[in-house]
Amino acid sequence: MNAAYDAIILGGGPSGATAAVLLAQAGWRVAIIEKAEFPRRKVCGEFISATTWPLLRQLGIAQPLLEIAGPVVRRIGIYGGEAMVTAQLLTQPAHAQDRGTAEDSGMALGREHLDTLLLKRAKEAGAEVWQPCTMSAYVAYDDGYECTINNRHTHQVHTLQSRLIIAAHGSWESAAMLTQDFRRPPHKSDLFGFKAHFHGSALPHDLMPLLAFPGGYGGMVHTDGDRVSLSCCIRRDQLARCRLSSPQARAAEAVFTHLTSSCKGVELALSAAALDGAWLSVGPLRTGIRGFGQDGIFAVGNAAAEAHPIIAEGISMAIQSSTLLCGQLIAHLQLPSAASCSRHSLEAVRRDYAKAWHTNFSRRLRISALFAHLFMRPLTTRIATGLLQHFPQLLTEGARWSGKTEPLRGTHPAAVVR
Ligand SMILES: Cc1cc2nc3c(=O)[nH]c(=O)nc-3n(C[C@H](O)[C@H](O)[C@H](O)COP(=O)(O)OP(=O)(O)OC[C@H]3O[C@@H](n4cnc5c(N)ncnc54)[C@H](O)[C@@H]3O)c2cc1C
Repeated sequence: MNAAYDAIILGGGPSGATAAVLLAQAGWRVAIIEKAEFPRRKVCGEFISATTWPLLRQLGIAQPLLEIAGPVVRRIGIYGGEAMVTAQLLTQPAHAQDRGTAEDSGMALGREHLDTLLLKRAKEAGAEVWQPCTMSAYVAYDDGYECTINNRHTHQVHTLQSRLIIAAHGSWESAAMLTQDFRRPPHKSDLFGFKAHFHGSALPHDLMPLLAFPGGYGGMVHTDGDRVSLSCCIRRDQLARCRLSSPQARAAEAVFTHLTSSCKGVELALSAAALDGAWLSVGPLRTGIRGFGQDGIFAVGNAAAEAHPIIAEGISMAIQSSTLLCGQLIAHLQLPSAASCSRHSLEAVRRDYAKAWHTNFSRRLRISALFAHLFMRPLTTRIATGLLQHFPQLLTEGARWSGKTEPLRGTHPAAVVR
């Protein structure tokens, strides 16, 4: 097969666009397939950790993002029941904090901006963007893949060939590829995600509180355009109870009523605020490690694994995992060819990528699960917030355990954009 591309990337979110920039910069012929039209909103809290801004700078995209991003987040907190605990978010040594460089700290940015600008950057770097297109089928050959894609506007069908596929399709939609199977029998503990923007909030500008409420958790943060982003996850059984107690309300409104009535901090922050745009919802979430692909297919971002959003690290893990994979791909394969893409080389890439992935993210996944289970239960929330009121520095530590302060380790120099 004469490959038309060296790599086809399925999905144009943060993980896919990052991979596209890095590989295109290294001289690879890259196609990126994205089913949605951008700009589009997305269920996401929108916080981007400090550790990711240096990578965004390397991708050549930090400046335009910084121009529109929300204020720098310097404090984290927990709002649960009547409790409102806050602590410093120490992302850098004190001298760097004093400098106040925006990139040294985390801040939030609407996905309608982040994803659009990242994908635009991928195009500028030389990637060919197929949008709005879905991949309906793919066939594996000895020396690569043939993918059938359908344009959702024109209904035209195209066939693309490539040596490798990077699965960057996120975790919502089951489809043809082995990495796209998210079907599970429904369970009462399934989590559904909700998100909305508000104007006129009383939330302090530098604070990102975690929201703990019965049967769910969430977060609030100032984002671009003087808006506050509120996002949360709620268990299927709790959602059903919320709907029973507010039978006339839509699901999101019922969740919001539950959230404001069980979390004083949310009530105080949003009582005078106005909803900006519609509520979005999605689910159920499938947290945990899914795998890194097989043969010439490599998974990044949520397609590889998903942490509970309670730690607000998914965008960072998406961008960082793509950086790790692309470093290994470029180092092991240079430009993919029949000779360089032997089974042995592909497995070497996956082995080194998986190792670097575990070094950076395994703990984040475990901590996110621990926090999620802790803060979805009223009793453990009361105990934890009681403790944190006496020892708020534990919150600062918790942020460190969740990966907010640790730079990416094991990046192959090949992934550094020149
Ligand atoms: C409630 C909630 C709050 C969150 N808050 C935060 C937060 O504050 N900070 C943070 O860092 N993370 C947060 N996250 C997690 C974060 O949103 C995800 O981890 C991140 O979006 C993963 O990026 P990705 O590129 O892997 O996948 P996605 O962002 O899901 O991108 C995948 C892309 O692939 C496209 N696609 C899918 N299937 C196909 C197909 N068949 N063909 C073509 N294209 C396809 C989709 O349209 C999409 O654009 C939150 C998540 C939830 C649910």
